[in-house]
Amino acid sequence: MICFTGGEVTTRLDLLMEGVNRCREIGLAYSITTNATWAQVEVGLENFLETFSDCHVLGISYDRFHAPFIEPSVPLKVLRSATEKGMFALLRYTICADEDESEILKGLGLYGSELAENVRFSGLMAIGRASNLLNDLMPVHDLDEPCLTASVKTVRPDGNVYGCCGEAFYLPDPNPLLLGNAYTTPISEIFARSSKNIVLQAIRTIGPRKIVRDANLVTEKVGEEEVLARSPCGSCRLMFRNKESSSKSISYAESRSPRVRALRALFYGEL
Ligand code: SF4
Repeated sequence: MICFTGGEVTTRLDLLMEGVNRCREIGLAYSITTNATWAQVEVGLENFLETFSDCHVLGISYDRFHAPFIEPSVPLKVLRSATEKGMFALLRYTICADEDESEILKGLGLYGSELAENVRFSGLMAIGRASNLLNDLMPVHDLDEPCLTASVKTVRPDGNVYGCCGEAFYLPDPNPLLLGNAYTTPISEIFARSSKNIVLQAIRTIGPRKIVRDANLVTEKVGEEEVLARSPCGSCRLMFRNKESSSKSISYAESRSPRVRALRALFYGEL
């Protein structure tokens, strides 16, 4: 499946349409993630849902950081309308350490309703522009969770292809999550590289937070490193912030390659 995401994809509607039409031509499922600002006028809502009615998953981003720019009634209206039309829609909410899922659902008027099932929470991470936010807002993510997003490849407008759709874009290049460039190398060849990329495979099986802890990449008990180590993508930043930490991470992953192979077979059926 191809997922179109941004920034905000609908600011380049021409490109989005071209990509979606290519997917349709070759029979590939597609999904769209959007902030739903286009739904602030009724005609925008109707047009969008009609144009992309075959969208596999419609992801609507909304959280406290979107709130100053868009009324919660708008993403909720999209969620409701899309669901009523038989589309699969999810409200994707980035949750902070001082927020509570039930309270958020109550605030949105969804608590106890069937649509509450269509709200997915993910914890805020100190990456990208969010690295300027207060440390107190950053929740502590599950320590040993493998990164499932490391099974998704991302193609950026400059042709760079990354082995995930997270912090990899913000890391200094080159880093092990940058798999190649689609303008210079066939994309099938680039995609094939991810299978042999031992550190990427360790991230999707052992998990970035565990790697960072076991490879001793966190030296501070408080401060920037501690905050980064709270989250999976923050941990990748610690792993690949410079040559030394990258090479420690790769050595760790290589030393665990039998375990990584076994976990790939167990989790993903990859032999
Ligand atoms: S945890 Fe690492 S591999 Fe996973 S999405 Fe974040 S940066 Fe990418």
